[in-house]
Amino acid sequence: MKPRFGAGQICDSSKTQSSGKVDIVGIFTRINSWGFPCTRNWSLVFSVFDITDSTTIIISLKKRRVKSQKTIATIDISKPEKKIDKLFNINIMHTFDSEGMYEIICSFKEHNGRLSIPFKVQFLEWPTFTNKEIKLVEKYKKSFPYKINVSINCENCSHIYIFEESILADEEPSGGAIRFPDDGHFTCSDCENTINLKDIQGRIRSSLKENLKILKKEN
Ligand SMILES: [Zn+2]
Repeated sequence: MKPRFGAGQICDSSKTQSSGKVDIVGIFTRINSWGFPCTRNWSLVFSVFDITDSTTIIISLKKRRVKSQKTIATIDISKPEKKIDKLFNINIMHTFDSEGMYEIICSFKEHNGRLSIPFKVQFLEWPTFTNKEIKLVEKYKKSFPYKINVSINCENCSHIYIFEESILADEEPSGGAIRFPDDGHFTCSDCENTINLKDIQGRIRSSLKENLKILKKEN
């Protein structure tokens, strides 16, 4: 008997219970990006039926209409004592260079059978703040979270930088923080590696915009 794939999902996070069931949080079909390259972490959950022998599952990621695919993980399964069905969950990290339709493909090294989980990577419009919104924030700035700090590691040398994004762009950043560079490229002062920040800055601006919705409703 050959093993076969059941269903699969991608989600924000997942955790295996002691019973073997998997708790999943935040199933999604779309990854939003405000700039490329953009790096995302997420979780993949899928089921396999009728495992009777040792086998290897290959997990790869592929952009639709592009021939090449990239192996992002392999799972070695040892021979079970009796036939089993099993849920797998693994964490995935990937850097996307462009928007489009992608799919995660699970396949067996030794057998036929595959499972495709399609998802979309979508480039979003840059979040901007109107003069009216800025005026409203100035009025309520004492109680309104109008700026967000984020610490970013240089992936080359681990130097940590703290960037600040604020709805009030004319204000100096608070202690030790630096503004995001206009073109989204920051050069590490220690190793001269280029850190791409456009996507991260866009995500922060988007969440500030969400905060604004609440402020607007209340005032
Ligand atoms: Zn560095």
